[in-house]
Amino acid sequence: MKYQKLRGTEDIISPQIELWQEIESISRDLFEVSGYKEIKTPIVEFLQLFQRSIGKNTDIVEKEIFQFQDRSERKIALRPEATASIVRAYLECGLYQNPGLTKLYYIGPMFRAERPQKGRKRQFYQVGIEAIGSLNPEIDAEVIWLVKKLLDNLGVDDFRIEINSLGCDDDKIKIVDYLKGEISKNLDHFCQNCQNRFERNVLRVLDCKNPDCKSCLKNLKIDIKTVICKNCMQHYNEVKSLLTVLGVQYEENKYLVRGLDYYTRTVFEVLNYNLGAQNVICAGGRYDNLVEEMGGKPTGAVGFALGMERIAMLLEDRSKKKIELDIFLILQDRMFLKEALKELINLRENGIYAEMDYQSRSLKSQMRLANEKKARYVLILGQKEWEKGEFCLKDMKTGSQINIKKEKLLEVINRII
Ligand SMILES: [Zn+2]
Ligand SMILES: [Zn+2]
Repeated sequence: MKYQKLRGTEDIISPQIELWQEIESISRDLFEVSGYKEIKTPIVEFLQLFQRSIGKNTDIVEKEIFQFQDRSERKIALRPEATASIVRAYLECGLYQNPGLTKLYYIGPMFRAERPQKGRKRQFYQVGIEAIGSLNPEIDAEVIWLVKKLLDNLGVDDFRIEINSLGCDDDKIKIVDYLKGEISKNLDHFCQNCQNRFERNVLRVLDCKNPDCKSCLKNLKIDIKTVICKNCMQHYNEVKSLLTVLGVQYEENKYLVRGLDYYTRTVFEVLNYNLGAQNVICAGGRYDNLVEEMGGKPTGAVGFALGMERIAMLLEDRSKKKIELDIFLILQDRMFLKEALKELINLRENGIYAEMDYQSRSLKSQMRLANEKKARYVLILGQKEWEKGEFCLKDMKTGSQINIKKEKLLEVINRII
């Protein structure tokens, strides 16, 4: 019997994992200095949480959630995204009692039963933030600045930030009427998918990728910002002017909507054209009604999520952080094992990357292994050295070797490494 991983899942191993670790640590560094605290929410939640927040007529809820019944016949889901879980935790843990904004970040796997393809996995990882507690445009601008800064820090180039506003809840009703009115003038010319969406989720017609639908939208001169209210337009204009103050370049995309119902006002996406079809590397926006819908007080909130696989694909060729093996410990005979083990942990406790052979290899094979592992130095403990209370240190680059008294070992190694 041969076991294989599930389709759409991945084992992330070295040397790729070093790149992932780097992405995580660069993200953490930036989020922490910006006041965000990490949150880890469960991977499983009640299905209803996502149905309520993301919306029943969305692609995610209709066909992409991994769901099952547990032994007590409760409907459980693997989280398809983090925002709903975080708002649940915000309410359940009473995070609204904290002074000021609640700023949270997360790093972890999400799950969607999509057709796997390059840059699209069924278990995929996201890095993201949520800032909960303000309606002000400066937090929208800060969140979008964080996206830009993070991508800069990661070394991603050739990206483009696109923004739009979806208006408030009242506007959404007007938008639906407006879109239905306009699109119905020419509904036959839209693709089947859009015709299906027309009744259930007309907003999604705006981001259809079908060229015919795109040209129909253009011909109908559709722009939802013509119907959104004055306050929302003012908010949008302030976000734009603050982005300029923060030096964030953006483009307005009037067809930009997100595939989740909870978004209001500002929405944004970051695209990278080196990735082909799956070119959205990051997306986010405001969700001012979600906290209230889930049982809290009216609370403004904004956040984003970045796809780790896609970022890793973009940075693949970049030279990865190399962890060089400092010392490989070699024993001439197993009788020196205890002595060697003590020295091995002593080196590690002093921050020196030290390894040894655990498979009873011959002296020659240990040397070969040290070579294969690209050890900088080998430390040999043999009969002669042992009698004198010494180790023999060999420089693998120059081939030169010296004998060092046991007591002086750490001092000498620290000096040369
Ligand atoms: Zn409005
Ligand atoms: Zn279409």
